[in-house]
Amino acid sequence: MTLEWVEPGCHPVADGVYRIPLTLPQDGLRAVNVYVLETDSGLALIDGGWHRPDTYLEFSTALAEIGRSPDEVHDVYVTHIHRDHYTFAVELRRRHGARVHLGSKEAAGLDEIALVNSNVPETSLGELRRAGAPQLAADAYALTVDEPFDLADWETPDGWLSPGMLPLAGRNIEAVHTPGHTKGHIVFHDHDNSLSFTGDHILPRITPSIGFELGKPDLPLGRFLDSLTMMADDDTHTVAPAHGAVGGKVGSRARDLLRHHDVRLDQILEILDQCGPQNGHAVASTLTWTGRNRSFASLDTLNQMFAVCETMAHLNLLVVRGELSLGHADEVSVYS
Ligand SMILES: [Zn+2]
Repeated sequence: MTLEWVEPGCHPVADGVYRIPLTLPQDGLRAVNVYVLETDSGLALIDGGWHRPDTYLEFSTALAEIGRSPDEVHDVYVTHIHRDHYTFAVELRRRHGARVHLGSKEAAGLDEIALVNSNVPETSLGELRRAGAPQLAADAYALTVDEPFDLADWETPDGWLSPGMLPLAGRNIEAVHTPGHTKGHIVFHDHDNSLSFTGDHILPRITPSIGFELGKPDLPLGRFLDSLTMMADDDTHTVAPAHGAVGGKVGSRARDLLRHHDVRLDQILEILDQCGPQNGHAVASTLTWTGRNRSFASLDTLNQMFAVCETMAHLNLLVVRGELSLGHADEVSVYS
C-alpha cells in the first residue's frame, strides 16, 4: 500500500489550495491533512491537526515551502471535534489570534469533554458495559486515564458553524452538516475547484469509525448513512480527505461506504439468525475487522472498543428499522 500521502511538505492540490499532512503518534491513521486556502486577506485552514510538541514546527516548516507563515492564518474551519482535527486550531488562536470554527452540533460534545476532564472515553465505556464487555471497559479506562490531557486544548471556538457559504473573501466554500462520524461533522465543498474537504466523513481507503461518541448515543449509523446518501449522486467533487491522498469522486466513495454497511448489517442479521440472542460484544467477536479481515481477538484494546461501539451502532439501527428486537439482561442489551 502506498503511503506517499504522509510525505511531509505543502503539496499543491488546486489553484491556491495546498495539503499539509501532519504526523500522528502511534496511530494507524499515520497523519492528518490540514488544507491551506489562500484568500484575499491571508490564509484559511480546513482542519487544524493535533496539538503536540512538534506540530507547530512541522506546520510552519511546511508552510515556508510556499513562502507563507502561521501568523497569516486568519480562520480555521474544523470538520469535527476529534483531537487530531481540533486541538492545533486552538493552539494557532493562542499564538496568532486565528479564529476557530466548529460545527454547532459539536457544542454538547465539547461540554462533555470539559466535564470528563481527561481522555477517558466515558460514553464509549458506557456502551461497552451495555454491550456486555465490562472487562474491555476497565482495560480501556486503564489505558486512557493517565494519558496527557490539557483542557486548554479544548477551549470553545470563536464561531459555531451552520450549513451555508463561508464568509471567505475570494473563495466559494459551502459548509454541509454531515452527522455520523460525530454529531456535528461538517464537510466543506469548494465549488470553484470541484473539491470536497470531507474530513472523516468520507475517507479513501478505510471506513470512518462510527459509534465512538461523546454524550448520549444518537443513532450514529443511521445519521451516517443519511449523510452518505445525501452525497451519493455527487460525481463532480473530488475527495480531499483528512486522512489519505486526494482523489476519487465523492459520490463513488459514498456508494462504496453505503455498500460496506449494507453488507455489515446483513452479516449481523445472519449471526443472530444462526446463534440466537446475543449481546454486542458477542456479535463483535464473531465479525472480522479492518480491510484485512482480522479477528476481533487480534485487535488491541482501543480497537476492540471501537469495534464493539461500531457493532452497537449497527445493532441499534437494526432495532430502529424493526429488523431486530432489543431485550435486557441486567444492564446488558440483548438483541434477537
Ligand atoms: Zn480524524
